[in-house]
Amino acid sequence: MYDLILENGNLLDPGLNLHKKASLAVTGQRIAAILEPGATAQATRTLDVSGLYVMPGFIDLHVHVFSGVSHYGIDVDPTCLARGATTVLDAGSSGALTFPGFRKYVIDVCQTRVYALLNISAMGLIPGQETSIALGELEDLRYCDTALATRIIEANRDRILGVKVRLSHFLAAGGKNELPALLRAREVADAVGLPLMVHSPCSSLSIQRLLAELRPGDILTHCFHGHACGIVDADLAVLPAVRKKVEEGLLLDVGHGRGSFTFEIARASVKQGVAPQTISSDLHRYNLHGPVFDLVSTMNKFLHLGMELDEVVRRVTSTPARVLHMENDIGTLRPGAFADIVVLGIEDGEFRLTDTFGVTETARRRLEPRFIFRAGQQVGVLPLPVSSDDYFSRPILPSQPALVG
Ligand SMILES: [Zn+2]
Repeated sequence: MYDLILENGNLLDPGLNLHKKASLAVTGQRIAAILEPGATAQATRTLDVSGLYVMPGFIDLHVHVFSGVSHYGIDVDPTCLARGATTVLDAGSSGALTFPGFRKYVIDVCQTRVYALLNISAMGLIPGQETSIALGELEDLRYCDTALATRIIEANRDRILGVKVRLSHFLAAGGKNELPALLRAREVADAVGLPLMVHSPCSSLSIQRLLAELRPGDILTHCFHGHACGIVDADLAVLPAVRKKVEEGLLLDVGHGRGSFTFEIARASVKQGVAPQTISSDLHRYNLHGPVFDLVSTMNKFLHLGMELDEVVRRVTSTPARVLHMENDIGTLRPGAFADIVVLGIEDGEFRLTDTFGVTETARRRLEPRFIFRAGQQVGVLPLPVSSDDYFSRPILPSQPALVG
């Protein structure tokens, strides 16, 4: 007797090489069994999901959800969980001085599983060039206190899973603080034995200088950004140094964002055999209403670019689960794992997808979540706006939606 059976869906879990018609049984917070079609089993609730895909809850490896404190921050449950991202990694919204508040007021009270990368700048992303207080987090190197960052990580190892540094000249005293900040972030990551995630759009450093500081397991986010310090040359050829680092274990992460994803570079790189290892949204206040909207829309862009469905799903399930060292618990449909599950339909039609340079392409199909479960509990699905034309008319998302039930 199970609590729930999702009956006759297309079970898709690339980490298990699973892609077949079957039913999924849940007991309590965990996945209990994968049942062959036609198997007789009893459950308190049975949901017919024939014609739909049943996938592990998605893992978004780059979001900004320090709502009300970081100027980028959005409420995590209505924007991530309610669109299928049951686990997210906040990429440096908080630093050593602000992480305790992020933990207390976001991580500990939301329904989404939230983990964090600690910003090497102790304030994290409080003001920014988007506000009238145009003060980047690396304008003053005194914020990059390695001892303090190390102490905060040691005290919060259950939630802080790496270090983040944003390298853009306009965030770092015209570029002069970029290399020192990178070296301090490197030092902290080494001291605690965790990966380093680096943002490079508009860095004054050369990509070669940056890559020299990165190790296997580190993450280069915004990998298709189209600004200075990118992974391709002027002819869109992937640089040999990038290729070499990727072969050695550097992870390329999409981190779509508001200014960091171009169809042109993504298409050219994938064609040259350099695909991102993880697909993430970089969802925040300035792209939630377009062009990002959510993680699923970013996945849809890779489907549109010709990536196979299984390969798209791998990049938001088993691979990010491995990056977080949680592959037995999340990002999988394996019996015993948390019952974080997304049930999706594939819709045919014409869907406009826009990159961060304003290039719009029309996709012929898209994934759309229908049912979402987090640790066996169903949560509500919030709808997606039709296009970025909705920017000024879409209502502000409620901060406390009734997600359960
Ligand atoms: Zn970001």
